[in-house]
Amino acid sequence: MPALLALPRHKALAAMSSMPAPAELFDQLCSHARQTGLLRSVVGLLEWDERTKLPPAGGDYRAEQVAFLAGEIHRRQIDPVRGEWLATLADSPLAADPDSDAGAIIRLMRRDYQRETKLPQELVEELSRLSVRGQQIWAEARGADDFAMFLPVLDQTLALKREQASALGYDATPYDPLLDEFEPGETTANVARVLEGLRDALAPLVDQIVGSDRGPQSDVLQRDFPEDAQEAFGIEAAAAIGFDFNAGRLDRTVHPFCSTSGPRDVRLTTRYRRNDFGDAFFSILHEAGHGLYEQGLPAEQFGLPLGEATSLGIHESQSRMWENQVARSRAFWQSMLPRAAARFPALADAGVDEFYGAVNAVAPSLIRVDADEVTYNLHICIRFDLERQLIEGRLAARDLPDAWRAAYESYLGVTPPNDAQGVLQDVHWSGGAFGYFPTYALGNLYAAQFFAQAERDLGDLPTMFARGEFAPLLEWLRANIHRHGRRYSAAQLAERITGKPLSHADWLGQCTAKYSELYRL
Ligand code: ZN
Repeated sequence: MPALLALPRHKALAAMSSMPAPAELFDQLCSHARQTGLLRSVVGLLEWDERTKLPPAGGDYRAEQVAFLAGEIHRRQIDPVRGEWLATLADSPLAADPDSDAGAIIRLMRRDYQRETKLPQELVEELSRLSVRGQQIWAEARGADDFAMFLPVLDQTLALKREQASALGYDATPYDPLLDEFEPGETTANVARVLEGLRDALAPLVDQIVGSDRGPQSDVLQRDFPEDAQEAFGIEAAAAIGFDFNAGRLDRTVHPFCSTSGPRDVRLTTRYRRNDFGDAFFSILHEAGHGLYEQGLPAEQFGLPLGEATSLGIHESQSRMWENQVARSRAFWQSMLPRAAARFPALADAGVDEFYGAVNAVAPSLIRVDADEVTYNLHICIRFDLERQLIEGRLAARDLPDAWRAAYESYLGVTPPNDAQGVLQDVHWSGGAFGYFPTYALGNLYAAQFFAQAERDLGDLPTMFARGEFAPLLEWLRANIHRHGRRYSAAQLAERITGKPLSHADWLGQCTAKYSELYRL
């Protein structure tokens, strides 16, 4: 049949009456996925370039390049032939053990396929168009401090997100399938349980800290820190914790991020402010934490589910652990402050205790991305409550600015002077990313719970950090988390590693101990 043979291989096979043997079919499925992974990695590289190097006039064509490739990727993902392969393989002996490599790959690919094919093509396209327009209008509205300008597109976005939730299906709340996109397998009810417990326990600690007049000063961080020296020191510190610069790099951008363009190509970005040591340094350590997870995923599984991060919450647990549990510890600065002082004359007279206090100063604030370790989660609790109410139709978008102000007054005791520093500060909702915010707080809690277990397994981590030894912790993360890719969900990882479900207990315990000492509570 020459006509059939001229078709792409998988089309030709599907057109035949019988499927090949499961092992052959599985290989075919994996090589198809690896090719999709190639396309995805090219998109990653184009997006990295767009945010670091692209001249402004190149933006329109870049948008076309990315949209074209995204369309190709989506078309490959929803190809009914893949659905047939997956259905056949799901009934084969290869899928009998859901935790085996093949079993996990089939199970996870089938989950993704079912999710993606539930969405009508028109809805996917409409969501993607509205996301681009929403972000443009949001940027203008934020610049003009004009929520009314943003309101119509926000209302349209909410309507489409509810439509998306209906298409995906849910039992309890339309927020469930939206959350599931970022935190697979997680439920709104469980996140609400965990975050409400955290919020109630955190309020008294924040009150005590704010009420203390014996806390640390942070002016040592506002001295003169030339940008080139900040960059060199950021690279030195990221390399010290184990980031492999032979398989990664650090560049400049406006909003820091980490992106992966291949199994041995993980890129970090940051920005520098000359009189602010903490802004760039902790963003580099944060992004390097993301990068260590990416570098720790099995390279031979690139493009397959076992070569991917399991959830945004787990991704964030890695960045937060290196940023907070490690780089905001006293022990870390025992080894790193002399190295910093060698690069910055401004730090010649700085002491470890002074510096450790400065990088841990707490102050309730208006802006999430500038928040300290303690109050950060309250910013997330506010957003989780509000976006759930919006999606469930319990809060009208036009009432959002008032609800935002009321929440900031009650949770953080601060009042936004305008919407630009209030409800318009984050890009997420304008791009349709409802269900994303809670993953930041989940990441903080997973980080603390994993770190507590690492201390039980590895012994005295602070003594190691004080000697500049970070490899034992990294190896522990590689063995327990990174090497599994998506084999286990976030909740399964917590159970397997720590023997208990996610809770706020370890996070609260660590913060209470640390800040009681720093603020002499
Ligand atoms: Zn992050």
